[in-house]
This record gives sequence, C-alpha cells and structure tokens, in this order.
Amino acid sequence: MSTKQRMEGVPYIPKEWEKVSCPFCDASKSSLHERFGDTWQYTYVKCRQCGLIYQNPRPKYDSSFVHDAYEYYAEDVLKNLPDPQKYLEEASAQTQCDDCVAEILKYDTQASCILDVGSYTGIFLHSALKRYPKAYGVDVSTRMAKFIETQTGVKVFLEKYEDIQTDERFSCIHMSHVIEHIPNPKAWLEQSKKLLTGGGVLVISVPNGLAFTCRIKIFLKKIGLRKGRWEP
Ligand SMILES: [Zn+2]
Repeated sequence: MSTKQRMEGVPYIPKEWEKVSCPFCDASKSSLHERFGDTWQYTYVKCRQCGLIYQNPRPKYDSSFVHDAYEYYAEDVLKNLPDPQKYLEEASAQTQCDDCVAEILKYDTQASCILDVGSYTGIFLHSALKRYPKAYGVDVSTRMAKFIETQTGVKVFLEKYEDIQTDERFSCIHMSHVIEHIPNPKAWLEQSKKLLTGGGVLVISVPNGLAFTCRIKIFLKKIGLRKGRWEP
C-alpha cells in the first residue's frame, strides 16, 4: 500500500498487528486514550508509568511500506517545482525555519555541525545552512535525498538513522515530527547520544496529544459528534 493508493481512497489494511509495551519506558500497563480510523481500528493508549501516548496494538512495521509511501510522497511534492531555490526560500520562510534555527542557536553554542533527521525537501536544512558551517540530512527517500544534495550540497544519509556509522559529530541533531512514526524511538535517542558532541543539543518536535484542541477532538469523538476518519 503506497501513499498514492491512500490518496486515491484505497483504505489501508495492515497485514499484521503487533502488541507492544511502552516504546519509551517498556512498561506494559496503559489506559485507553483515543480511538481513530475509518472503522475505529486504531488505538492510542497512555502509559501508566511515564505518560507517553502511543499506538497499541499497532500495524507491524513494514519497511517496504515506508519506502514506497515516502518515494511516492517525494515524487508528488517534487514534480511541479520550476524554481527549486525559490521554493526552498519560500517554504522555509512559511514554516519559520529561520526562527527555529535562531532559537536552537541559543542552546547550541558550539554551532559546528547540524544533522536534520527526516529532512523532507530540505526546507530546514536550507535555513540551517545560513548559520551552520556544516550540515547533513537523513531520509528514507532516494528522490528527496537527491533533490536536497543537488539543491543545497548537503549530504543525506539514506540508512536507518540508528544504523548510521560516521566519524562526524554533531553539535545539534534536529528531528521534527518524525520520531513518533518509527517503531523504536529509544534506539534513536541512543544513536543521538552517540552522534552528539559533548554539550551538543538534541531538538525533537512531536505532536502534543494533551493540547487543548486535541482534548476537544477526543471529547467530540467520545460523544459521537466526530468521526474516526484519519486523513492521510
Ligand atoms: Zn512508558
């Protein structure tokens, strides 16, 4: 099942499901947090020990799905870009990446080398390059990686993040809305510790499941005023 099929309205049916313990603290006790999906087939639970909200049971991790999905996504995003440099400038301005980099630099006093995990089209890297002498990316899509390398000159690792072997050390590792999509976030934290310089900073953005708008959405679903549909 590719992103293309999902966009064409073919429902995604996981081949296999797996039950998991908390991906952060490994505790098995949790309480129901939210159900979602066209037939309410997906469930978020909240860990009773550390409070992490995670999917359980979850579709069994399928690396070919991830690969297909992101390659299609990349093709779709990159196909109509007559002026890639103008696109990068506008997209990074729209998502306020310059401000984000400026905020990071308040903490990353070394500012020697930055790694952007889940680089998308290089929007963040485009901004990071204005302030960092060296930058690298990580992505699953070969198309995205090629686009970034051509447009920004930044090397993009195509390995799984936890498998990357490099002598380079990063004063900042940045991951925006990506760690919540992978099966073993703990391995990413351990890899980050290895790849950071002493005193380097790790910047992670994730959705806030306890935000006011999320609480309203869950409440409306509970009383039947909102469907479980999940947009691709
Ligand atoms: Zn936990």
